[in-house]
Amino acid sequence: MGRLLGAALLLAVAAGAQNVVIDSHIDTLQRVLIENVDLARRLPNGHVDLPRLRQGGVNAPFFALWCPTYYKGSEAVRRTLQLRDAAQRVLDAHPDQIQLATNAAELERIAASGKIAMILTVEGGHQIADDLAVLRVYHRLGIRSMTLTHFRNNNWADSSTDQPRHNGLTAFGKQVVREMNRLGMIVDVSHVADKTFYDAIEATSKPVMASHSSCRALSDVPRNMTDDMIRALARNGGVIGVNFGEGFLNPKDAGALKQAITSTAYQEPALTGKALDDYAAAQYARDILGSKKGFSTLDDAVAHIDHAVKIAGMDHVGIGSDFDGISTVPAGLEDISKLPALTAALRKHGYSEQDVKKILGGNFLRVFREVTGK
Ligand SMILES: [Zn+2]
Repeated sequence: MGRLLGAALLLAVAAGAQNVVIDSHIDTLQRVLIENVDLARRLPNGHVDLPRLRQGGVNAPFFALWCPTYYKGSEAVRRTLQLRDAAQRVLDAHPDQIQLATNAAELERIAASGKIAMILTVEGGHQIADDLAVLRVYHRLGIRSMTLTHFRNNNWADSSTDQPRHNGLTAFGKQVVREMNRLGMIVDVSHVADKTFYDAIEATSKPVMASHSSCRALSDVPRNMTDDMIRALARNGGVIGVNFGEGFLNPKDAGALKQAITSTAYQEPALTGKALDDYAAAQYARDILGSKKGFSTLDDAVAHIDHAVKIAGMDHVGIGSDFDGISTVPAGLEDISKLPALTAALRKHGYSEQDVKKILGGNFLRVFREVTGK
């Protein structure tokens, strides 16, 4: 082996050893769709862009294709395709910085090359318009996860923030879970009603994730998970991604969360096409773009991670910031660039380097590999 080749190999090995840091829920693609922002620029507001991802050390974010539940049926599919197109615009504009990852091997290769691996996820089962063919095409479009509900029930699953209608998952809802298992898409149980969660855990043959939920024992809101749910998630091999948003971390902010749920979920205009998109843009400008100061702090995030680790063990906890989908951020963790402060706080709290690696990405990488099969 020549000296040059040897040096190149050493470099490759060093690059391969690069940490994979995963945030399992980021809502920034709606900014690309609605505001047409360029993510390669450091944006003056919001929580996430490519420079801030790099500053925060995050090289494998899950980008949500979130469509409000007032998009119904084929309108929800149309909106999902618009978001998928927005994601493609980012990928096409900056192939030197970000690439799509559709399995764990691709994710590791992209991260090792120093780029950001984009993982795509659909946020709300209503987005398949009750049709498994739509789900299968989403998979073909590189989407590798789906949250079973958003803020409201859909036709086959109950949401944690709506009145129970189906007693959890319907027979079709269980079929959706099994089809996601077969395709290699992670079943995401954030947002679902407790009964839907237990039904999903029973129906799935693969680990699931709660991509952006925190602990109900510390902040009693329905979007968070009870200790029993966290235990069941661990038995399933799944991972909970602690949410940094309003009310998730600190019960003093629960009012702000309730307000967000009410304003985005409960008005349902009878609009379609461009008129509906204009309505969504106006809602977005009003609700999302603010970054208010709440009561929660970086220490609250550490407390939730601590609690989840105590209940589930070190292999089942991660982070799912919900950045650019939340209006109140924790002091000390105001955007994705601040993530090293969380790492430092965890280390100070007694977590080993190995533990921190698991929480900041290793655990979600394991689930991604088990579900995508590569
Ligand atoms: Zn959400």
